[in-house]
Amino acid sequence: MRTALVCGAGGFIGGHLVKRLKSEGFWVRGVDLKRHEYAETEADDFIIGDLRDPYVCTQSVDRRFDEVYQLAADMGGAGFIFTGENDADIMHNSGMINLNMLDACRRRLVRRVFYSSSACIYPAYNQLDPDSPNCEEASAYPAGPDSEYGWEKLFSERLYMTYARCHGMETRIARYHNIFGPEGTWTGGREKAPAAMCRKVATTPNGGSIDIWGDGLQTRSFLYVSECIEGTLRLMRSNYTSPVNIGSEEMVTINQLADMAMEIAGKQLDKRHIPGPLGVRGRNSDNRLIRQELGWAPSKPLFEGLETTYRWIERQVRSNSAPMRAGAHAAPAEPIRLTPEIALAAKAPAPAPELVLQRH
Ligand code: NAD
Repeated sequence: MRTALVCGAGGFIGGHLVKRLKSEGFWVRGVDLKRHEYAETEADDFIIGDLRDPYVCTQSVDRRFDEVYQLAADMGGAGFIFTGENDADIMHNSGMINLNMLDACRRRLVRRVFYSSSACIYPAYNQLDPDSPNCEEASAYPAGPDSEYGWEKLFSERLYMTYARCHGMETRIARYHNIFGPEGTWTGGREKAPAAMCRKVATTPNGGSIDIWGDGLQTRSFLYVSECIEGTLRLMRSNYTSPVNIGSEEMVTINQLADMAMEIAGKQLDKRHIPGPLGVRGRNSDNRLIRQELGWAPSKPLFEGLETTYRWIERQVRSNSAPMRAGAHAAPAEPIRLTPEIALAAKAPAPAPELVLQRH
């Protein structure tokens, strides 16, 4: 049976990836700081652990997995990565995860490792014009990301490429562009634009108004999660070794995104433009390379994905079932069951202070 490890399996994309790998017949282990908030995991084994800790990485990579997907990161939407307050955590936490996890894979002789980079690595100077931003893969250098999140991703891309060059590993790197869909963070401060927009529209009565950061003329493209997973697996199993965009080319303004959410909801709302963290002025995926190398590119219209996402968020709002929390890293609510092996791990020398290991 083929085996896969998904790091960040308690998160949005990781949760969807676990489902897809299970449907393909893999034995799957997930690892994350927390359980998935919106769905029961389908992973065969799920470790609650802090991947900044090399010991947890070693425990997670206890066999020569056929495929390892490294999606764990300290991340969020503009309200998390562009305020500056979280910069040190973003650099330190995600850097540690990548350094330790990749080396644990090397020591176990895992060959193929996927890394989720981001469109945030692209230089700010190429994304000043909202109508024609340049996000071609080759434009990444001279480097000039507009956030520390982007700089860490760029560092880690290079880290994965050096392990391929120097240690014979087969690393695959995707630059994701704004992934959205059901079962993703939609409240609490780490949510991204499509989820935030759907929530605002769903919680505002017809005729009311919603807040939009900036003038709403900044452009972005948004990729539905099922296409992100499809692209991820195609890239992972291809022979292409350099970073490649996985995103949609359907660029819209944030105002247009708001209009779509209102149309789906059947509501007329005023857009109130307020100051807020914005990021670059324009960004769009450039899919020429993925088409050329994989013979495939995303094609689902934004409206379709947004409709599914809106309905899901509307249900969350109605049932109010989402945990009302300040961040994605809240401690799991369930009582912790420690297996003897994991209890031993918790007593291992020099664990990170907040180390919690749990397997079920
Ligand atoms: P997410 O926040 O839902 O998932 C990331 C998961 O990593 C979370 O569940 C979190 O608990 C876990 N994590 C964080 N620190 C950890 C640690 N120290 N140990 C173990 N687990 C830890 O985010 P997502 O949207 O699913 O993104 C997955 C990956 O894709 C991330 O690397 C992200 O940077 C990248 N990415 C996402 C997007 C997007 O639009 N969602 C865009 C570009 C890149």
